[in-house]
Amino acid sequence: MKSALHHAWVEVDLNALEFNVRGIQKKLPKNVTYMAVVKANSYGHGNENICEKLWNMGIRWFAVANLDEAISVRKYCPEAEIFILGYTPPYLAPTLAENNIIQGIVSMEYAKELSESATSPVRGHIKLDTGMGRIGTRCTDTETCGKELLPMFELPNLKLEGVYTHFAAADSPEIADVAYTRRQEDRIVNVYNWLAENGHKLEHIHFMNSAASVYCPSPRCTLSRVGILMYGLLPNAPYPVPIPIKPAMRLKSTVVQIEYIEKTKQTIAVVPVGYSDGYSRLLANKAQALIHDVPCTVVGEVHMNYLTLDITEIAESVNKGDEVILFGKGAITANYLAFLYDTIGDEVICNVSRRIPRIIVNEEIKDEDLILEKAGVSEYETNITSCMG
Ligand SMILES: *Cc1c(COP(=O)(O)O)cnc(C)c1O
Repeated sequence: MKSALHHAWVEVDLNALEFNVRGIQKKLPKNVTYMAVVKANSYGHGNENICEKLWNMGIRWFAVANLDEAISVRKYCPEAEIFILGYTPPYLAPTLAENNIIQGIVSMEYAKELSESATSPVRGHIKLDTGMGRIGTRCTDTETCGKELLPMFELPNLKLEGVYTHFAAADSPEIADVAYTRRQEDRIVNVYNWLAENGHKLEHIHFMNSAASVYCPSPRCTLSRVGILMYGLLPNAPYPVPIPIKPAMRLKSTVVQIEYIEKTKQTIAVVPVGYSDGYSRLLANKAQALIHDVPCTVVGEVHMNYLTLDITEIAESVNKGDEVILFGKGAITANYLAFLYDTIGDEVICNVSRRIPRIIVNEEIKDEDLILEKAGVSEYETNITSCMG
């Protein structure tokens, strides 16, 4: 590790990634294909580290947020199916076609604009708004929605191959939310079936994210869009997940200086990681980091380029150059840091500055490193029963 040791580094643990993907795949019904969500540079892990690994594991579908990301993934996976969840300006339709990228189609108007700008057919999946209330063709009544979609199929430079939606509350196993998610699923399945009955049998239908894929895996889709869970973080609600996972990202640094503070009788360690590296100022005096597996509290402010840890209890055994784990091991997860400043783990991992080098590791999977959320399992299982029923 010494060669990369400038001030801090991120370990990207490909064994952990594989472990998580295999666990999620086991939950998916046999007919459902895994689509790896690799937007935001693979949730901060680096497309260069994640995409080829996933391809070599047999993953063939990738989802991204925009065209730049799609082209990045294309570089690592020349043969992959790449799907853009977000907006691509219509004038870039020829680039979509050239790179064989599938675009999410949010409205009839957008479909027309894409088709008009394209010089050869652009592949698309129709986005339906089944209750998220954001983007997509509004879809509550099956026939009304189906009829509204029909003209899209007549556009000359659009090749429609699928339909998809985003659940509003899939991350929650609350009874009311599970019922709502179920209703959203019924709506898209009904429209998909209606289109098939009216001459447009689409190859793909998808609506599950990480949470839905493990809380409520449905056989009524062909693809599942999995993000956060494969990187070893819990979905956006502090509920138990029914599979063990292991964080694929660890943010590390070293102790560069040790000081004894006479006034407070504390020994502190200076660690060269600050808010410009993505470690939030809001974590000051709250978060802990690990030195020799011992949690040490951040004392004082988090500065632009460094922070200080209280190492009074273990002062004897800490030396300059010792490794510090800021998150990604034991109880010190990105989810834990997120909880401390009222955000979600996704933000913590996406915010780690690009200037911090990503280093590939393949750590052995040990039981003690797994996140096994046991609390509340029985309550959760009751709801799952209602979700399946
Ligand atoms: C980001 C995203 C996902 C992945 O969600 P996770 O909760 O990270 O699994 C799925 N679908 C859409 C539309 C997304 O934008």
